[in-house]
Amino acid sequence: MENFLSDIFIDEEKIQAKVQELGCQLTEDLENKEPVFICILKGSILFFADLIREVKIPLEVDFLKASSYGAGTESPGIVEMAFDLKIDLTDRHVVLVEDIVDSGHTLKYIQNFIRKLKVASLTTCTLLDKPDRRTVDVSVDYSCFVIPDAFVVGYGLDFDQKFRNLPYIGILKESYYSE
Ligand code: 5GP
Repeated sequence: MENFLSDIFIDEEKIQAKVQELGCQLTEDLENKEPVFICILKGSILFFADLIREVKIPLEVDFLKASSYGAGTESPGIVEMAFDLKIDLTDRHVVLVEDIVDSGHTLKYIQNFIRKLKVASLTTCTLLDKPDRRTVDVSVDYSCFVIPDAFVVGYGLDFDQKFRNLPYIGILKESYYSE
C-alpha cells in the first residue's frame, strides 16, 4: 500500500501520543458527566477505538453514519446521513468524534441534528482539521492535528473505501487518483 503514498504524513507514534493526550484532557473535562461518545462512521473508527480507551471515566458509545465523498477527493457538498442512534441523548453530555473537518459541511449538519435533541452539552473532537478549506463556520473543541490542504488517507480515512487500515496518516500520490 505504501507504493500509493507520496509521504507518511503523521506516523503511528505521533498519533498515539496525541490521542493519549486528548483522552487525558477529556477524562478531566468530563468527570462525573457519564458522557455519550458518538463515532461518526466510517472514517473515525480507529481514532474512536483508540480514544475511548484513553478516557478513564464511565461512558457510553453510539454510532452515526455520514458520507460526503464518493470515489473522488473533492467533496460534492452533499451530506448523506444515516441517523440510527440507539441511546436517548436528551440531557446527556455528548462527544462527537470526527475523522477530519474539511469544508465543515458534514460536521455542521451533524451538530445541528444533535443540538435539536436537547443534549446537556456538545463537545466536538476531530483527529484532523483543515482550516484552509473551511467554507462554513463550525465549532471544533479539540483538534489533534491541524493540517494543510492535502488529501490524506489511513488511520480510518479512505480513498474509494481503501487505505483505512493503515496505522498512520499518509498523503496519496496524485497519480493514484488522477488516472
Ligand atoms: P467536509 O464536510 O468537512 O467537507 O468533509 C468531511 C468529510 O470528508 C470527512 O468526514 C471525510 O470523510 C472526507 N474528507 C475530507 N478531507 C479528506 C481527506 O483529506 N481525506 C479523506 N480520506 N477524506 C476526507
